[in-house]
Amino acid sequence: MKGFEYYAPETLDAAVEILARYGEGAYPVAGGTDLIPKMRYGHVAPQAVVNLKRIPGLNRITSLENGGLHVGALVTLTQLSREALVRERYPVVAHIAGKMASAQVRNLATVGGNLCNAAPSADLAPPLIALDAEALIVGPEGERRVPLEHFFTGPGATVLGPGELLTAVLLPPPQPHTRAMYIKHAHREALDIAIVGVAALVRLAPGTATCQGARIVLGAVAPTPIRAREAEALLEGAPLTEEHIAEAGRLAAQAARPIDDVRGSAWYRRKMVDVLTRRAIAGTRGEGGDLT
Ligand SMILES: Cc1cc2nc3c(=O)[nH]c(=O)nc-3n(C[C@H](O)[C@H](O)[C@H](O)COP(=O)(O)OP(=O)(O)OC[C@H]3O[C@@H](n4cnc5c(N)ncnc54)[C@H](O)[C@@H]3O)c2cc1C
Repeated sequence: MKGFEYYAPETLDAAVEILARYGEGAYPVAGGTDLIPKMRYGHVAPQAVVNLKRIPGLNRITSLENGGLHVGALVTLTQLSREALVRERYPVVAHIAGKMASAQVRNLATVGGNLCNAAPSADLAPPLIALDAEALIVGPEGERRVPLEHFFTGPGATVLGPGELLTAVLLPPPQPHTRAMYIKHAHREALDIAIVGVAALVRLAPGTATCQGARIVLGAVAPTPIRAREAEALLEGAPLTEEHIAEAGRLAAQAARPIDDVRGSAWYRRKMVDVLTRRAIAGTRGEGGDLT
């Protein structure tokens, strides 16, 4: 590991100032579970590392006036999985947060780190995008909000510019008659990266099986997490029949742009998108699905 300057600012303004001063040479660090291994293996060589942990307030989960949730970027996966507000309003998020990595890693790893690391396989991205979450960003020009769907620009790349930090994820209020499910397919139950991840969110017309709104979000099968828009459009306004679900799976597989790598071939990944999309949509009908 090369030498670097280490900073532990106590305010957001100070962090932004340091990050802006070093530009692309500066890396914020939260839990360090992605950044430290990358530094050790020489994949990144920061000039400056800026620890965010002393900045007050970034590790809180708070209710918004509109019934949504403000999840600070430094909230750990353990916090996310245990917080009652998350479990009640967005169980799909609490559920996957409690399954990622290992207990030790979850105690360190943060929401912001998972998203800003921008791995195409990041497990929080598909369910949060399905819930229409927004990224709250602070930088030298002030604060801005970006729909999480548009936050990722490529493997390891986001819309964050020099000096910018993710400070929180904003979740809109949960919608009635809405259920969501995220299925992670990996070789092992624990300590493994997704080969494919599929989030499905379905809102039904009250008292019917007719879909009023749908989100299908795919992870690990494109340079960034992506929405399968044609599959969503097919479901909207349609009854959730086996035929529609099967067609949605086929359309989602078409939307995927997977690669071959050590964890799976592109062919296999596309097949699994079809299978998991069907399972996730069926899950939202109550067949093992998590309520949002
Ligand atoms: C053994 C092991 C198992 C894992 N299993 C999983 C898994 O099952 N699923 C999964 O998705 N991931 C997994 N990961 C990856 C990792 O743990 C997660 O991505 C974690 O959430 C990263 O959070 P962190 O706080 O440790 O990030 P850090 O390492 O601190 O940061 C990651 C990146 O984001 C940047 N960053 C951090 N916070 C901010 C911020 N607020 N604003 C701007 N940039 C920021 C850093 O500069 C760095 O580039 C695993 C990692 C390990 C080591």
